[in-house]
Amino acid sequence: MMPRRSWEDEELVLLRDNARRFFERECVPHELRWRAQHHAERELWNKAGAAGILCASIPEEYGGGGGHFLHEAVICEEQWYALSYAFSNNVHSGIVAHYLLAYGSQAQKQRWLPGMATGEIVTAIAMTEPGAGTDLQRIRTHARREGDEYVINGSKIFITNGLHADLVCVAVKTDVNAGAKGVSLLMVETAGLKGFRRGQPLDKIGQKMNDTTELFFDEVRVPVENLLGGPEGEGQGFRQLMQQLPRERLIIAVGSVALMRRAIDETLAHVRERQIFGQALMKQQNTRFVLAECETQARVAQAYVDDCIARLQADTLDVPTAAMAKWWTTDTACRVVDACVQLFGGYGYMTEYPIARLYTDVRVGRIYGGANEVMKEIIARSLEQG
Ligand SMILES: Cc1cc2nc3c(=O)[nH]c(=O)nc-3n(C[C@H](O)[C@H](O)[C@H](O)COP(=O)(O)OP(=O)(O)OC[C@H]3O[C@@H](n4cnc5c(N)ncnc54)[C@H](O)[C@@H]3O)c2cc1C
Repeated sequence: MMPRRSWEDEELVLLRDNARRFFERECVPHELRWRAQHHAERELWNKAGAAGILCASIPEEYGGGGGHFLHEAVICEEQWYALSYAFSNNVHSGIVAHYLLAYGSQAQKQRWLPGMATGEIVTAIAMTEPGAGTDLQRIRTHARREGDEYVINGSKIFITNGLHADLVCVAVKTDVNAGAKGVSLLMVETAGLKGFRRGQPLDKIGQKMNDTTELFFDEVRVPVENLLGGPEGEGQGFRQLMQQLPRERLIIAVGSVALMRRAIDETLAHVRERQIFGQALMKQQNTRFVLAECETQARVAQAYVDDCIARLQADTLDVPTAAMAKWWTTDTACRVVDACVQLFGGYGYMTEYPIARLYTDVRVGRIYGGANEVMKEIIARSLEQG
């Protein structure tokens, strides 16, 4: 179980209990089927909405839970601890909803946020392309203005929630000659949209139950009022993306600590039971030292992440500090899970065991949300500048 945090008041404890029960009841029993088909059923989003899991940190006037980052953190911890990534609430409530809140017009917020909170509208964010991931300035998906519409051509890859998304925040080039200043964010409503197509869910090595797809745009027309940031929003996409990154990276760090916690809990249960050379595996000095190291790493990570959360709440979380949290927790989580798998022996290699699934689930943390090499570059640049 995730331990109660120093910052957790009674309301957050109730939210945590509610989220834990939701994932145990609505997700865990269906995991096998969802992993096989690489996605969950669409109705799961409506159930999550009804249970108060979605848009917890969005103001009540837009249908959200009226909470703040702590509410998102508690839900994220419970979802990742349960290994129930069947729908990416982090992308939906933690990222897209906050883009709308920060840059959306009043009309855009009123139009989309309430539906996002109930699960009637599922969202995704589409930046990555086959030829441009880390180096986002290279994106080629293009939107040309024609009267009151933008016409989009291009494709996106690795898009989380892509299969069910009703609304996609798409990074496009509105000026191909302006580099980063030519990037804009367009909100694309997918229902019955001519020229829009999605690929089958991609077969990933981990987090298999979460749908990740390609999206294709062929002369797709969206009204100009779907531009994020109003009439001035053209060319602001890169800046908008950068501003939201510390928050997004912190949520990955929050989830990564929950994965460490789950790995250690699973392993403790196993080594206490497993008999070897006439005693519990826990009694072997190596087991004791490995778990002592894992526990220390998890607690140190937790302390740093809690400090980042406090900074975010105080609006003082800077980009390098969030980058440190992202690279260190994702790297450490991979090391902790790997050490735990070893203590399971052959059972740690069988997907029937949560620890084996954790081994592949955890790996993506070092790649997405900005590759860890990029995090180190950001930190180094801040050191260079003093
Ligand atoms: C499961 C999953 C879900 C995803 N969900 C989404 C989503 O919802 N929306 C979305 O837009 N994208 C999503 N992505 C894409 C993800 O953000 C990219 O995969 C990531 O940004 C890396 O881009 P790339 O894959 O093109 O790798 P590349 O950009 O080709 O980078 C490859 C490697 O190069 C190295 N590298 C990169 N930059 C540097 C540098 N500056 N210095 C040194 N080395 C460097 C790193 O080791 C990096 O891993 C998802 C990816 C995965 C795997």
